[in-house]
Amino acid sequence: MQLANRLSKIKPSPTVAVTMRAAELRASGVDVIGLGAGEPDFATPDVILDTAHQALNDGKTKYAPPAGIIELRQAIINKFQRENQLTFDISNITVGSGVKQLLYNAFLVTLNQGDEVIVPAPYWVSYVDQVALCDGAPVVVSCERSEGFKLTPEKLRAAITTKTKWLVLNSPCNPTGAVYSREELTALAVVLRDFPQIQILSDDIYEHIRFTDAPFVTFANVAPDLKDRILTMNGVSKTYVMTGFRLGYAAGNKTLIKAMNMINSQTTTSACTISQWAAVAALAEDYDFLQQHRKIFKHRRDLLLERINGIDGITCDTPHGAFYIYPECTELMGRKTPQGKILQSDEDFAHYLLEQANVAVVHGEAFGLSPYFRISYAIAENALQEACVRIKKAVENLS
Ligand code: PLP
Repeated sequence: MQLANRLSKIKPSPTVAVTMRAAELRASGVDVIGLGAGEPDFATPDVILDTAHQALNDGKTKYAPPAGIIELRQAIINKFQRENQLTFDISNITVGSGVKQLLYNAFLVTLNQGDEVIVPAPYWVSYVDQVALCDGAPVVVSCERSEGFKLTPEKLRAAITTKTKWLVLNSPCNPTGAVYSREELTALAVVLRDFPQIQILSDDIYEHIRFTDAPFVTFANVAPDLKDRILTMNGVSKTYVMTGFRLGYAAGNKTLIKAMNMINSQTTTSACTISQWAAVAALAEDYDFLQQHRKIFKHRRDLLLERINGIDGITCDTPHGAFYIYPECTELMGRKTPQGKILQSDEDFAHYLLEQANVAVVHGEAFGLSPYFRISYAIAENALQEACVRIKKAVENLS
């Protein structure tokens, strides 16, 4: 079978690959603890399930418009107004089968061969592959631990060329949990005002998973004058435990949104109609479960940090959002496993943890900054505790 050349530009999602490998081992009887998955372990709240059932019962089972049902687009407008103090018109809104699909639509309709997209690293794995798939050139900018894993104005300016088309921002960030402050975003906006050709993509999918009292700030809040250049993306997967519903939304420039809708019309037609109705319920109000989930995540984060920082050779700062930590494992490089292998990369370490400690984590190289690894704490507390015991023991077995 001769596959298309463009396939050579991308690789399968490493986070999905780790989750699949852990599932495979589990199926073969190995007691693997998966710390690789990017989805909350809670049950989807009843209010959402009930609405989905109701949609089925009401026969809302037909195609939807490519931009999304009008009720959902209105709910999205209300959400942006209520939670983010952002005002949008119906023509500024598009709906897709997850943020993942909408990102792809955005890159597909804007990138020409060689157009550059600045992606601060560590980054969520799909940004760079999607850019490459759309003939663009990802420009990865390393944001060090000493910088809180965040892009500085100086690094942004240095990365810009005449070919720069997009800057991707993701706060709270997967994989680091870093959250940009109003001041930090404002400083980036100062640079971006000098380059009118650059659009800003703000992936806010972890908006509601934050652990400080500081209000959430998205890029459109700090640079209202750049509104036409900002594409704000969000989705129901993480906040409302709706990963399998596959539902995301974006707000931005009408011309861009129209083009993205055209891609929907020629690819998926629309996001799943039942999921759209369920999302209308999800976005309707500030439910109590959001607070409860945050409390549980914060408790797990603190427990995890304490345990992980108690392991010789691994250190991690406190992240303020999402449900990941991104510990550094530089000191473990060069150590030898009981099997005689010298650890030369975070991938070696993640492989060692999976095969010898039966704990699945994702190596930092997959996110563009090494040597680190990502732990997802979207997993029950007892499993998380057991995983920490196993990691500690595995590290102690290194020489
Ligand atoms: N953006 C980030 C930063 C993510 O971590 C994820 C999922 O892991 C997504 C987007 C994808 O979200 P969706 O389920 O809406 O496609």
